[in-house]
Amino acid sequence: MTSAQPYLYRGRELVEPDWTRFAGWRDASRADWESVQWQRAHCVKNVSQLRDVLGDGIDERFYADLGRDQAERATMSMLLPPQMLNTMMPGVAPSNAGATEAFYADPVRRYMLPVFSDRRTDWPSHPYATRDSLHEHDMWVAEGLTHRYPTKVLAELLPTCPQYCGHCTRMDLVGNSTPQVVKLKFGAKPVDRYDAMIDYLRRTPEVRDVVVSGGDVANMPFKNLEAFIARLLEIDNIRDIRLATKALMGLPQHWLQDDVRAGMERLGTTARDRGVQIAIHTHVNHANSITPLVAKATRAMLDTGVRDVRNQGVLMEGVNADPHQLLDLCFALLDGAEILPYYFYMCDMIPFSEHWRVSVDKAQQLQHAIMGYLPGFATPRIVCDVPFVGKRWVHQLADYDREHGISYWTKNYRTSIEADDVDALERTYAYYDPIHTLPEAGQGWWRRHAGDDDFTAAAAVAAKASRQAALTQADQVPVARAVHA
Ligand code: SF4
Repeated sequence: MTSAQPYLYRGRELVEPDWTRFAGWRDASRADWESVQWQRAHCVKNVSQLRDVLGDGIDERFYADLGRDQAERATMSMLLPPQMLNTMMPGVAPSNAGATEAFYADPVRRYMLPVFSDRRTDWPSHPYATRDSLHEHDMWVAEGLTHRYPTKVLAELLPTCPQYCGHCTRMDLVGNSTPQVVKLKFGAKPVDRYDAMIDYLRRTPEVRDVVVSGGDVANMPFKNLEAFIARLLEIDNIRDIRLATKALMGLPQHWLQDDVRAGMERLGTTARDRGVQIAIHTHVNHANSITPLVAKATRAMLDTGVRDVRNQGVLMEGVNADPHQLLDLCFALLDGAEILPYYFYMCDMIPFSEHWRVSVDKAQQLQHAIMGYLPGFATPRIVCDVPFVGKRWVHQLADYDREHGISYWTKNYRTSIEADDVDALERTYAYYDPIHTLPEAGQGWWRRHAGDDDFTAAAAVAAKASRQAALTQADQVPVARAVHA
């Protein structure tokens, strides 16, 4: 007898789901579908537009659920290009029996179109959740330019995207305000912000790598993006440029436009002459989002001289936090669309994200489960973006209080706000598991203490006690084993 492998690889052909199954797009031609202008003009921005697209069939309770979420929970406003909506419940027409349940259960819907009943009611937010959970603004060295790691920076050029994701980590700044979140606004004019960024990079030779992001660079008029990158290419110390765009998947039509391809080719030629690498980083969370148009847009970008297209997904319960879902996605990226699976980030501790977040323990198990199936160069690392630290591989933690769900992390560099902090590299930094994933004792502790004024101190004391108890227990285990042996 042989035992089956935990995961069975099967090559899979990419499919563009039939958009005419939706009443609102019944008459949309292929030319319409492949036109970026048509896609932008037909984006779904509210409940009533969604109802018009889906037509009859989806229960009213879904729209009520969605409306309640928009009013009471959403940190991002609704914005779905048809390309993105079409990857939800592929193969199911809203008029089919069971379509409402299929829509509720759909993994892409779960993060792009969250509804109130998706969220937890016990702990909708972690007590330590914050709007700018990674403290990117604290580390701005010019408005929108975050300098966290020693050799690289993040340039937030604009605060908008062609699609808005429910779990967006930059929910503080990106997108339109919602009833729950009044968004921050950049103070300076774009042209002045870009000048200040370029000026900082010119006088900071230790920075060699710029992530050009937002928002999503696909929302920037291409000539402005090209001008900014051309300026980066003139700075001797800049050796790597990475363009962040989820639109490669959500609106691939953008990257297939002739003027965009021609502009990327001009940048690719200059980059090659100067020995600089330009790469694209995209954000795909489920295999269903990889369609032939996504593969075509990726190929078009690689043909312009882009060195690599890499995926930085986000690990989310109900979407992809399962070994099969992760491996299906990685193979769809790699085989179908020539996109390198690169990272999966644990979902950040923003408000109302507890139903998506997983514990560090689960993230470690998932990392273990996906090892060995993909080529090493395409095996993504699952990382935790620890506040005030940065990305850490999930197995890198220094200590882990599982009862209270507090992991402790160290770091080996100073961020831009710690130049004078002598203890920055000696300290441990905390990250918190979702409370509903903890053992009952830990959940009870949080229920009792979450409102305390001295909450942080109480957490530290409790964590120390539980670590001590764990150590004592560990000491006793070998003795017990020895007796039984
Ligand atoms: S594309 Fe990125 S920046 Fe834009 S909403 Fe989604 S996660 Fe946020």
